[in-house]
Amino acid sequence: MALLEELAASGKTRLLIGGDWQPASDQSTIQVLDPSTAEPIAEVASGSTTDAIAAVDAAAAAGPEWAASSPRQRSEVLRRAFDLMTERSDELAELIVGEMGKALAEAKAEVAYAAEFFRWYSGEAVRNAGSLLTAPGGDKRIISVHQPIGVSILITPWNFPAAMATRKIGPAIAAGCTMILKPASDTPLTALAVADILGTAGLPDGVLNVVPSARSSKVVGAMLADDRVRKLSFTGSTEVGRILLEQAAARIVKCSMELGGNAPFLVFEDADIDAAVDGAMIAKMRNGGQSCIAANRFYVHEAVASDFSRKLSQAMASIQVGPGLDPSTQLGPLINQAAKNDMIEVVETSTGSGGRVLTGGDAPDRPGFFFTPTVIGDMAPDSDVLRREIFGPIAPVVTFHTEDEAIDLANNTIHGLASYLYTGNLARAMRVAEAIEAGMVGVNRGLISDPAAPFGGVKQSGLGREGSHEGMAEFLETKYIAADW
Ligand code: ADP
Repeated sequence: MALLEELAASGKTRLLIGGDWQPASDQSTIQVLDPSTAEPIAEVASGSTTDAIAAVDAAAAAGPEWAASSPRQRSEVLRRAFDLMTERSDELAELIVGEMGKALAEAKAEVAYAAEFFRWYSGEAVRNAGSLLTAPGGDKRIISVHQPIGVSILITPWNFPAAMATRKIGPAIAAGCTMILKPASDTPLTALAVADILGTAGLPDGVLNVVPSARSSKVVGAMLADDRVRKLSFTGSTEVGRILLEQAAARIVKCSMELGGNAPFLVFEDADIDAAVDGAMIAKMRNGGQSCIAANRFYVHEAVASDFSRKLSQAMASIQVGPGLDPSTQLGPLINQAAKNDMIEVVETSTGSGGRVLTGGDAPDRPGFFFTPTVIGDMAPDSDVLRREIFGPIAPVVTFHTEDEAIDLANNTIHGLASYLYTGNLARAMRVAEAIEAGMVGVNRGLISDPAAPFGGVKQSGLGREGSHEGMAEFLETKYIAADW
């Protein structure tokens, strides 16, 4: 891994604060493991609360000048960062595989997706429009402008170490905010590499500070208690999101929350079944199922359930499992031992409530955190497994009888992030898409992510949107100026 060697040799596995790469104040480090071997590959500085506050100092100091920088300057930094990420795509992909485990082809796709956020927000940076209205009473002009909200905390998960970071950094830079990124402690290396690229692209010191930390709750708590912090953008579990919202409430910090999902995948009797299976493989197996928008529950009409389940099982059984860097690998390991234990438990709970393993169902006998692609048929609609986020390569299939029943089953969750439906009937597609309680609906598509689209959830899946113009609006405050002339 050439990029890892380069980062380590130049001290860029340390904290980035105010443009300096520095060790943690108490010299703490995090060991980064390769999930395909469970062996350490790197040591990264693990920030303390002192370091976190030093990062807030740096972001606050850089704030006024960056807020006053020209939109064109911010746009060009982002555009150069897109070019550099694209040039270094192979090296970045290897680094992602090293710390996160996914198959190399998927890591390359992630780098391309991640870089697109920089290209998209390079365009948005110069389109921060306001508005002018004559008041209905004719007594004044109502001017609205959108100003950078200020110092922002960005917290990212381990599943897409590059894309979850660029999806937050891109719009924050475009809006003119300064920030502190706390990447997941399982995957801090990619975030540090992206920060280094932004420095090369001309991002001024202090605009982006990176503080990996194994003490996330203390470090984030200290930053949220600091009056200079105005924004929190979090991607992770609903449980942690709830804790952070409570902490943010003390100082009324504006929050964007991308939380857990429990995506239904509906297959109607009039669907093209082969296309539905192809879409299911993407929606379920992208990132090995370790995605908040992964299809989590398959609801299939009784007339096509056995055909769909058989074809899905065949496709799942044909997947090549192995270390991510092996070119023949299609599915890498899970992130850690806890995730592997979770999969074993999902299978046990499913079969305990009447489910039947159609393929897979166990962990291969090898080191690392691997699990075999699994389909479980005949699931009872009220099984506990259908209420939880699986976050791995297991597809539970439930049979339904009517469209209304399918919609009720899909909506029977506290979550509302992604959803998917397959049907050949356009009217049904639009009717069901409108009735589903989710922030995103894939219609005859298993892949929905796009930097130009508003990504986000309803119900307990989150607050706010990322990507699209809305993603930049999350880092802006509206100011109304009443004027008379
Ligand atoms: P996942 O581990 O599935 O990504 P988490 O919600 O546990 O989901 O973690 C998402 C991010 O939130 C990670 O960067 C993690 O370090 C951080 N995190 C976890 N717990 C806390 C907490 N109590 N306070 C602040 N950040 C946290």
